[in-house]
Amino acid sequence: MSAPVQSAAANRTAKLAIKTSRRTELRNITREVAEFVARHGAISGVCHVYVPHTTAGITINEGADPDVARDIEFTFDRMVPRDAGYRHSEGNSDSHVKTAMVGTSQTVLVENGRMILGRWQAIYLCEFDGPRTREVLVRVVPDGPA
Ligand code: ZN
Repeated sequence: MSAPVQSAAANRTAKLAIKTSRRTELRNITREVAEFVARHGAISGVCHVYVPHTTAGITINEGADPDVARDIEFTFDRMVPRDAGYRHSEGNSDSHVKTAMVGTSQTVLVENGRMILGRWQAIYLCEFDGPRTREVLVRVVPDGPA
């Protein structure tokens, strides 16, 4: 967890603190990620978006109609009930299960300093045990020499 980060990599890595407001919430973080990517100028490569958490994940889905994110939240809560005879004593096994389904990272291609996202795509922090403040790590990795 506390391994030293090389300075070049550190410069290309952002730690975003994202506040969530509900227990289950898809929080659109596209703007925050895009701003960080843009700070690197016209580079091409990839952008990794990762959460170091066990009850929150990252996904990419529709950002144009906010009802889609709400429908996804509703579906996760319906598919994975809060109480289902789980063994984990912390009482948030449903949050862990939802996170396992979503995964904790996404990778987006970057071209000339801009993420290549489809017209309707947005990057979401998936909160499954909120509300709380989550750490989102964003790293831009430029293409090496061809
Ligand atoms: Zn737990």
